[in-house]
Amino acid sequence: MAFRFIIVFALLSKALLAQVDLFDYQPIDLKPNLAGSFGELRNHHFHSGVDLRTKGKVGQPVRSVQEGYLKRLVVKQGGFGMALYISHPSGHTSVYAHLDRFQKSFHDLLLKQSFKTKSNLIDLYFKKDDYRINAGDTIGWSGNSGSSSGPHLHFEWRDSKTQEPLNPVDYGLEIGSDIVNPNIIAIHTKAGQRVNSIWTDTLIIADWQDIGVEILEQQIPKGPKLGIKSMSAWIEDINEPNRQEDPDFSWEMERFSFSDTRGSDGHMQHDIHSKLGIRTYRIAPVSQPAKIWKNSYSFPENGIYELTIMIETMSGQKTVSKGPVLKNSSNSLWEIISKTSSPLDWTSPNGEIEARNLKISWSENSFMEPMKPKIVYTTASKKPKWICSPDLPVTKSLNYFWTPPLDYPKTLRHKTVLIGRDPRGISKVVGRPTEDGKILFKMKLWGETYVSSDNSPPKIYFIGKKIFQNQEAFCFKLYDELLDIKNYRVKLNNSWQWAYFDAKNKNLLIPINSKIKIFNFEIFAEDEALNNITFRQLIQL
Ligand SMILES: [Zn+2]
Repeated sequence: MAFRFIIVFALLSKALLAQVDLFDYQPIDLKPNLAGSFGELRNHHFHSGVDLRTKGKVGQPVRSVQEGYLKRLVVKQGGFGMALYISHPSGHTSVYAHLDRFQKSFHDLLLKQSFKTKSNLIDLYFKKDDYRINAGDTIGWSGNSGSSSGPHLHFEWRDSKTQEPLNPVDYGLEIGSDIVNPNIIAIHTKAGQRVNSIWTDTLIIADWQDIGVEILEQQIPKGPKLGIKSMSAWIEDINEPNRQEDPDFSWEMERFSFSDTRGSDGHMQHDIHSKLGIRTYRIAPVSQPAKIWKNSYSFPENGIYELTIMIETMSGQKTVSKGPVLKNSSNSLWEIISKTSSPLDWTSPNGEIEARNLKISWSENSFMEPMKPKIVYTTASKKPKWICSPDLPVTKSLNYFWTPPLDYPKTLRHKTVLIGRDPRGISKVVGRPTEDGKILFKMKLWGETYVSSDNSPPKIYFIGKKIFQNQEAFCFKLYDELLDIKNYRVKLNNSWQWAYFDAKNKNLLIPINSKIKIFNFEIFAEDEALNNITFRQLIQL
């Protein structure tokens, strides 16, 4: 194990080797260039696939990596946008997301289903022999649909039985050479201390969960920042370091489940993120950790230690960071808990808190860390709001009960919206009136909230022609001032017409049938509070 005590740099330009190679074809025929890696820390989730760049353009042919059958076809305005799921005999499912369009027979399935259900939101499942696919078949073309923020292919490799995403690189996905060594830029503490990778000033912490490791991993110089594959931490006697074989804490990003992807918020040191805006990796887990953590842990008690941290990237490059740490606490919440149980076995208790006319209640295991909940109501800002503290990752929806003032209009009771914000994102939830006159919002957030309402319908107007799915389309702007668009339907010359709503750009795209010259549109749109509009427009070419 002596290798870990020198700074280990793998050879420059190390080629990536799969553990097993199950791919007969790569999903796109371009020199691999990553925009995102498996398991990267994102807000509220681990990145479940690999993002392959497509030279900034849409329309790159996308191929099935192995033979199999079409298992699922999805068309959504957000999320994966247009996506295909293919089931393979190896027991895996490949997922191709943010597509621009599907191959003809799959596109026809979409049109048929959309016509049948009079809906544009499609989620179709198929049986084994419905649509066979050969390895290398072009199943569609890469795009930028759904919540994608630039043209790329999001590729996923899942265990078909559990639907757990796996690291595709371990199964045959080529991601090209990694010519930049990983860099441990700094070690931060919750209290605001910052040291370099090899440090001599003692880090002072109350809990092992206070430490956050700032890493820069890139495939090419100035390229996108990527995640890492694993991290291990050894916590040893300061006078006798470098003896212990097994790390005290370690995790490896091989697979995770969608049920614990929320664990990414606790995998990251969120106090450092909210203060400095940087995502750092924790060396020690919090309760309800994602199943990527390896060992069964005991948490070293107060004392002075030598801490060694080793990280490994997807391409197998390693680097080490080390220095002295003083853990010195007698009354931190983690410390109090660890007197009776391991932090990992700890169950966060149920509870409730109230201020002004808002009561928040939660069930067991809603939080990943111990806390003393606080709430204040403040009118200091333009919009009066409630501020809950301390900032904490939430794993379940909390119940927000708001008691409206006596003169609150009856018509608004189904149109009341709770808007929440924490350092990891914004959430908007439409409330449900309860029998005792309150309005209930279920929101997976602990942070700042305020109440608003929305009784105005979405807005629509025609903007012109655009290229969509490699052909001409009419484009309408469609948006709501406060909420998301929940539903939209288009009739053209009195018949059902399939359309795609690109929610992030607020574009409603309607393919043009070249034989028609007069277009009589009737567009229905509805927001999440069920405010709706029917918009009509006649266009003559
Ligand atoms: Zn992605």
